[in-house]
Amino acid sequence: MGALIAPSVATRRFLEETHGLYVDGRRLLPPGAAPCAVVNPADGQQIGAYLPAGPAEADAAVHAARRAFRERRWTSLTPSARSQVLWKVAEIIERDADEYAQIETLDCGKLLSGARHGDVLIACEAFRYHAGWCTKIEGATPAPTLAAGGEYACYTQHQPLGVAVLIVPWNGPLSMACWKLAPALAAGCSVVIKPPEQASLSVLRLARTLEEAGIPPGVVNIVTGPGASVGEALCRHPEVNKISFTGSGATGRRILAAANADLKRVTLELGGKSAAIVFADADLERAADGVSCGIFGNAGQVCVASSRVYVEAPVYAAFMEKLVTRARALRVGPGMDPDSQMGPVISDEHLRGIAEKVTRGIQEGARVLTGGRVVDRAGYYFEPTILAQAPAASVVLREEIFGPVLCAQPFTGEAQASELANDTRYPLAGSVWTRDLSRAHRVAAAVEAGLFWVNDHGRPDVAIPFGGFRESGIGREHGRVSVESYTELKSVMIRL
Ligand code: NAD
Repeated sequence: MGALIAPSVATRRFLEETHGLYVDGRRLLPPGAAPCAVVNPADGQQIGAYLPAGPAEADAAVHAARRAFRERRWTSLTPSARSQVLWKVAEIIERDADEYAQIETLDCGKLLSGARHGDVLIACEAFRYHAGWCTKIEGATPAPTLAAGGEYACYTQHQPLGVAVLIVPWNGPLSMACWKLAPALAAGCSVVIKPPEQASLSVLRLARTLEEAGIPPGVVNIVTGPGASVGEALCRHPEVNKISFTGSGATGRRILAAANADLKRVTLELGGKSAAIVFADADLERAADGVSCGIFGNAGQVCVASSRVYVEAPVYAAFMEKLVTRARALRVGPGMDPDSQMGPVISDEHLRGIAEKVTRGIQEGARVLTGGRVVDRAGYYFEPTILAQAPAASVVLREEIFGPVLCAQPFTGEAQASELANDTRYPLAGSVWTRDLSRAHRVAAAVEAGLFWVNDHGRPDVAIPFGGFRESGIGREHGRVSVESYTELKSVMIRL
């Protein structure tokens, strides 16, 4: 393996700071808070610290957002002016892209190239795309059915919901925070962002960018800290109108319960157990690359990961050989090593959780084609793993592992392929690999999934709506639907 890339001076300076909160345009260090260590998953070493919020600071952040909304600090700007500010946010993130990428790599364990050309790119693109929406939010002019022509004039308009709480997980905190924040701001909301306690730094770094771009004080507030106290306090706060959450199903259910009391609007992006279906007529080399990237990218910590693959029986053996060869060839190592092709998982706790599920899966009958063990080195690495013949009820097929673990199985015929793909509670995404266009459309229609690719897997795009079927979520992010999810629709009927 190669030498590690040294963090830049800017990154080192940022890491050396003690981080706190960002409330009402000011950086706050909560008094009396015990510092939380920031740990690099690549070697388990502490690289920084932050001071977490408590419920009192969560309350202050919501009040700051409410005040900013009430005083129209953001919505009194013209849509054109707001659009220019969002565009500027993108430009500043792009200018500081290397620093953002290094922070995300050191805090989350991502490959530096992935952080730079994936996460940071998406963060920029979220602001560029939504800059355009500021000037394009529009209603309709429906005609009433029970009024004669000329008796009424009617219109609808999208009004900003008010205060939105944005809660993100650790597997892509910067990109996910930005793809929630940009539409919320385009819609005219004020927000409180709660980054994940395991990886808060890139979202905290965003405060400086937002300030420089000209976001008025109080419009965006950032509070770190534990989900169970700070996150819960934000979700229960009566001054909050909307919660947009990405994370686990268990937390999603708690958030729904918290939102229930005063019927807050809720968008939930939860876990996935997404299937890739490979037909014999597919370009098998491209399919093997795609499925391999789909499960081993970000060490499998991707909600749309291709964690199940179903392969048409005649090519099953040949295809599995390609996948196993790719998995064994992957160079596993720190994200700051340019030679690494798969990085660590987020924490020791998560690593042990992956290992336990794989061990249970093997006890339940799954056969290991490659991998299956924790890598014996400092940091939190799991071998790229492929399991075959896992019984339908086994934990590795039923539950999201959120690690580099793929379950494979052969199928015969289109009907069986979609039946197997649909046999999950978490149909977030999916893909089909085939050269037959008609079959691609049929399978895309038959498979339950909020986002489905043909001859690709895992590509996100801020213009393409994304979200889960069934227990993998409620609502959609990206595209027009996302901007509108931060608004209430009002109808006005004018008797002429
Ligand atoms: P998690 O649910 O434990 O935490 C996610 C966020 O919620 C964190 O910021 C956490 O502090 C906060 N939180 C925890 N308890 C809370 C509470 N009671 N009230 C409010 N906030 C609370 O999830 P995780 O382990 O950090 O992330 C992994 C999970 O996220 C996986 O299941 C994965 O599939 C899912 N995920 C989904 C998507 C998607 O878009 N569908 C994307 C990435 C990750």
